[in-house]
Amino acid sequence: MGLLALRRYIPYLRPYIGLVIIFGLSQLGSLVAAASIPKVIQFIIDGPITQHQLGQLVPMAGLLVLIGLLEFVFIYVRRNYSGIASLRMETDLRNDFYAHLQSLQVSFHDNWQSGQLLSRAISDIATVRRFVSFGLIWFLQTFVTFAVVLVLMLGLDWQLAIVVVLCMLPIAYFSNKFHDKYKVIARRLQDQQGDLTTIIEEMATGVRIIKAFGRMSLMQKRFEDQARLLRATSLEGIDARALLWTRLNFLPNLSLVAVLLLGGYHVVHGSLTIGGLVAFMNYVFMLTWPMDAIGWVLSMSEECQTASERLNEVLDSHPEIADRAGARSLEQSRGRIEFRDVGFKYPKSDEWILRGLNLVIEPGETVGIVGRTGSGKTTLAYLLPRLYDVAEGQVLLDGVDVRDLYLRSLRSHIGVAFEDPILFSASVHENLVMGRPVVSDEELKRAIEVAQAGFVWDLPWGLETRVGEQGYTLSGGQRQRLALARAVLGNPPVLILDDPLSSVDVHTEAVIEESLARVLEGVTGLLVVHRPSTLALADRVALIDGGTVVAIGTHTELMKSNELYRALLSQEYETSEKQTA
Ligand code: ATP
Ligand code: MG
Repeated sequence: MGLLALRRYIPYLRPYIGLVIIFGLSQLGSLVAAASIPKVIQFIIDGPITQHQLGQLVPMAGLLVLIGLLEFVFIYVRRNYSGIASLRMETDLRNDFYAHLQSLQVSFHDNWQSGQLLSRAISDIATVRRFVSFGLIWFLQTFVTFAVVLVLMLGLDWQLAIVVVLCMLPIAYFSNKFHDKYKVIARRLQDQQGDLTTIIEEMATGVRIIKAFGRMSLMQKRFEDQARLLRATSLEGIDARALLWTRLNFLPNLSLVAVLLLGGYHVVHGSLTIGGLVAFMNYVFMLTWPMDAIGWVLSMSEECQTASERLNEVLDSHPEIADRAGARSLEQSRGRIEFRDVGFKYPKSDEWILRGLNLVIEPGETVGIVGRTGSGKTTLAYLLPRLYDVAEGQVLLDGVDVRDLYLRSLRSHIGVAFEDPILFSASVHENLVMGRPVVSDEELKRAIEVAQAGFVWDLPWGLETRVGEQGYTLSGGQRQRLALARAVLGNPPVLILDDPLSSVDVHTEAVIEESLARVLEGVTGLLVVHRPSTLALADRVALIDGGTVVAIGTHTELMKSNELYRALLSQEYETSEKQTA
């Protein structure tokens, strides 16, 4: 069995080794209790019953009750302790999995469906836990039961014992066949569960689009097809398990017949007592349950193996964007940014999005980035906080390659607001202080004012109002203003604003610009611009085309000298000029 994939989870049990030992001992205790019952029965039949000493029957019955009680206690302790240990392990494992997911670079998440990560974090980890708490118990139980029963059988009648062993040999063959078949099914099953989760998740996030376009029936069909696929695979799994179980259950029956035939012969010839034969048959009965358990354990271990493979696929992806050996921190940043011969491709793509790009932003300066849609403006903005790393060249902050800085240090100097203003299911306050947990009330008020996000004071619970998925629903413009407040909070020396005002009305935009202009005064700004009006905030503008900076200068200069720039901006500029006039 390829249980090797499970090795990495063994350390997770280490903190709970005490619980595991208690569970192992009670396991052994319950087994000894169960195995001693046939011995007592043999003694009763061959002693008090055969010799007509009924007086001894009652104490013997009492002994049986006592053993039964002991077994009860052992089983209770075993179940409980294995449950506690495995649940704790599951929690630790899940926490580590989440931490690992967070440590992975953005490009990892670009390439993974969220449903696949979700199903791994929830159901695959639960599968590992189930195997550790039940599967391993049964595995041990079965193994030890077989060993103990075999020794006891050998003591009673070695020839009968050999017959039983011979009858059980096909276990190996059946298990092997099952393994080959079920490992494929289990993998497909868990992958399909992930796909199904993705569809549900997409429906939940895209519900407005789906409804607006009247795509409900199409989505329903996609879901049903996927659910049907999952059902077909589950049925295949049931079929494979049923076949294994019936085959395994057949073996003790087979050996029972053999034992009866040969045992009857031995009793007639006097080499075995009747009590001995009954005890022997009881031992064969004791094997029926472990045979069932083998079936369970095998299917569980396959599922667990697949689950751990799926977990390992994530856990083995190492964060590509992480602190280098010898990285240092920057106490105070002046905010000088330099892109030097930067080339960038998205992982898994051959297309150069940026190539040979050079751009210097001096401390305190704000540079606007203008370019066609899809020209790589947002991509450029990702490179400074190292959401992606360059493929060629360097990005420097204060003359230091950003890859030589601790991520935490680098990012503490940069405030960002990207195109999509994501808010989390948390209070407004928690969303705002996300990047800088230690801020004063004054700073908070100022950031809210700069971003013209004063509406937060009028929310039902003010700053404590929950927003995001499960909370108060904000408008696009409101979310954008909160995201902007989050970016400027704590006065980071570098601000990256990717089209931060696209969803606010013209009047609010003008007010925000006015206060943003004050904020940008002392800091270095990289400002991706779509609307010409925002250009008022930029000291210089860089025009990006074909992956590089094709022109740089003030807005007026570029309007004069660059045709592409004019084409991109003039029409809108004129419209907005007219509007403000
Ligand atoms: P817009 O003005 O529409 O915001 P942009 O200039 O910001 O456009 P980018 O978002 O930087 O453009 O995208 C540049 C190119 O990179 C596009 O062709 C886009 O298809 C591609 N791209 C963006 N994100 C990814 C990604 N995660 N993986 C692969 N390609 C991507
Ligand atoms: Mg963009």
